[in-house]
Amino acid sequence: MTFQISARVLALARQAQTEVRDHFDRIDSIAEANTQKVLASFQRHRVAESYFAGTTGYGYDDIGRDKLDEIYADLFDAEDALVRLQFVNGTHAITCALFGALQSGDVLVSAVGAPYDTLLGAIGVVDKGPGSLKDYGVAYRQVDLVDDAPDPAGLAEAVADPKVKAVLIQRSKGYSTRSSLSVDEIGALCAVVRKHNPHAAILVDNCYGEFVETREPIQAGADLVVGSLIKNPGGGLAPTGGYIAGRRDLVEGAAMRLTTPGIGKECGCTLGHNRSLYQGLFLAPHTTAQAVKTAVFAAKIMELLGYRTEPASDAVRHDIIQMIHFGTPEPLKQFCRGIQFGAPVDSYVTPEPWDMPGYDCPVIMAAGAFIQGASIELSCDAPMRPPYTAYLQGGLTYESGKAGILLAVEALLNGKQD
Ligand SMILES: *Cc1c(COP(=O)(O)O)cnc(C)c1O
Repeated sequence: MTFQISARVLALARQAQTEVRDHFDRIDSIAEANTQKVLASFQRHRVAESYFAGTTGYGYDDIGRDKLDEIYADLFDAEDALVRLQFVNGTHAITCALFGALQSGDVLVSAVGAPYDTLLGAIGVVDKGPGSLKDYGVAYRQVDLVDDAPDPAGLAEAVADPKVKAVLIQRSKGYSTRSSLSVDEIGALCAVVRKHNPHAAILVDNCYGEFVETREPIQAGADLVVGSLIKNPGGGLAPTGGYIAGRRDLVEGAAMRLTTPGIGKECGCTLGHNRSLYQGLFLAPHTTAQAVKTAVFAAKIMELLGYRTEPASDAVRHDIIQMIHFGTPEPLKQFCRGIQFGAPVDSYVTPEPWDMPGYDCPVIMAAGAFIQGASIELSCDAPMRPPYTAYLQGGLTYESGKAGILLAVEALLNGKQD
């Protein structure tokens, strides 16, 4: 038995896939280059079965964990790295990096508008409970976007102060309306920071961006990259965790914050999960490419139906996020329901908008993932307010991502006839 997909949608899908062929070729060649990079690093570090054994308790002498740190350092062109299951999410990893880089009296600058929503409480922009950077005496400044784009002049001014000790650059747009940054664009912002404040540490929130290009932000001038293992670099297999890679002193500072001063990187058992982290990283360039292809295909088919998309299907991608503007609530809900019907897990549930903590309007979320909350798996969410924009991301395989999109389009078109 296969899915009931109408002749009209199948024809649209054929047209869409044909028209994006050149982009798929480009995405494949990036995956090829990144796969070789990962393989070469595995070989250099003599990855062996014994690395997968894992530890319990304190996790002393976990060779698989320590070698994986070295491999991440290699891949991100970093002096050192910290890859740990003990990071509960990306926000936690970024927060450890910030606390590691900043002390009381210092100033943190966010270079491209507001950071990701979940960081606002950690920085202390909004009060989400005690223990924020603000509570520890770290001040915060933000360089707002100008016409939805980075403002290099504003950045130069904001960092030209010796009290500014860290600058945060977010690679992906997240839920903002700006474009995601290319590695080259991150490089240009790094150059501005260096020129006006050579001593500030440049931290990049790398979430959703890993392996989308062949270069990573440290190669463009950043000091540290941070991300989540249930997004791109976990390849869909990592069960939880995060990573930090970059300048040795900054990685050490983050490690002391994750565990405790005096312990740092020495503790943190892996409970038999090293194999998933290695195999996930091995798959990550390919899996990321599958998600990017799913995004490009979704953009194309929605454009054929007359919807506005961002990025457009013919744009060069810098992350895995696809925005689709629906304009009204009903088609957005139908689309999300269709995505849910196509999921391998929880396909029988119907997503409904709900009042999610931290949001100022109801949010609808479609996701049926093997790993809870993993957005490298096909998922779609949207705040229920104009312009009724869906944020679509992921797809462990292009085939399953495409099936999800086809079911979503089918639901959308059927919904319209009601
Ligand atoms: C996912 C993400 C984060 C971290 O989110 P978590 O849900 O805590 O993993 C931070 N920044 C960006 C841009 C992200 O996409």
